[in-house]
Amino acid sequence: MELLVDSYGRRIKSMRISITDKCNFRCTYCMPAEGLPWLRKAEILSYEEILRIARVAVKMGVEQIRLTGGEPLVRRDLPDLVHQLHTIDGLRSLSLTTNGILLKQQAKALADGGLTRINVSLDSLIREKFAKLTRRDQIERVLEGLAELEKYPSIHPIKINAVAIRDYSEDEVLDFVRFARHKAYVMRWIEFMPLDADQIWRKEDILTGGEIKTIIEAAYGPLVPITTGDPSETARRYTFSDGIGEVGFINPVSEPFCANCDRIRLTADGQLRTCLFATEETDLRAILRSSDDDEVLAATIRQAVWHKELKHYIGDKRFKRANRSMSMIGG
Ligand code: SAM
Ligand code: SF4
Repeated sequence: MELLVDSYGRRIKSMRISITDKCNFRCTYCMPAEGLPWLRKAEILSYEEILRIARVAVKMGVEQIRLTGGEPLVRRDLPDLVHQLHTIDGLRSLSLTTNGILLKQQAKALADGGLTRINVSLDSLIREKFAKLTRRDQIERVLEGLAELEKYPSIHPIKINAVAIRDYSEDEVLDFVRFARHKAYVMRWIEFMPLDADQIWRKEDILTGGEIKTIIEAAYGPLVPITTGDPSETARRYTFSDGIGEVGFINPVSEPFCANCDRIRLTADGQLRTCLFATEETDLRAILRSSDDDEVLAATIRQAVWHKELKHYIGDKRFKRANRSMSMIGG
């Protein structure tokens, strides 16, 4: 099948697939305390439907799939989906983003299913701070999940993702660096974006990757850039002068990477989003449920991708909030 390319010449190689909108956490930067009106079962794509889209997308040049949510591990039989995705010819990377709370029970099955990469979100190493942010006093279970993951070297690397928030994250930057270097986890900070359901986001809350880098360099000396030559890589990656460990900064607000964006997203209810900040979506579920013809599905995806947004406009007068918040999109 013809490759997926947008009208600005960007080739699409990466797809984030949300498999549920539900979550067992209520992170303040993402969801309201009371949760959100959950999708009904009939609205959510079945694993067969997800697989059909994934197969067509891979035929059109998608090389990486990341499963996300909501919290993907709350959906039943996730390892089965992982296993089936893993067998798609041409898929080079299959990864998962999770809050980690159910990993202790599921890490083995995910490894057996063929998961190769994982991001575990962890914003604080301090129990009270973690409980306040996630509104769940469960840090122990996340740490146990991480410890369990270490038993399965086929899932590599283990990345820790922390949202960087001013007056919240600074104090723990060096603790996270020590933790990650000691455990051989890859550490990533991502800038806080206006995708929270409660709309608490303020420009002033952004703590940039550059500021975090300065904190690290004051303690460890100049970081050493890691360059892969892949322009679509979202993280600015560094190691330390002693070569131990890796940190990275995902700076969508202070250093937008839209010009090289190679991603599309599929929501749990089968809507294709060509930008995290999209205000419009393409209904793939309707196509899936009305036609068996993969060419029709492919043509719909291709048409949507052609209209992929040029960029987000955070910090600009033209900025409009996305029509969904993060947990409903799949970050
Ligand atoms: N529940 C899983 C988790 O937390 O890892 C997967 C879904 S979550 C929406 C995916 C990622 O989005 C997490 O790393 C989370 O920290 C990040 N995220 C959520 N809201 C965000 C926001 N407003 N700004 C930046 N990152 C955000
Ligand atoms: Fe749930 Fe992830 Fe959103 Fe936190 S960031 S509420 S864990 S979906």
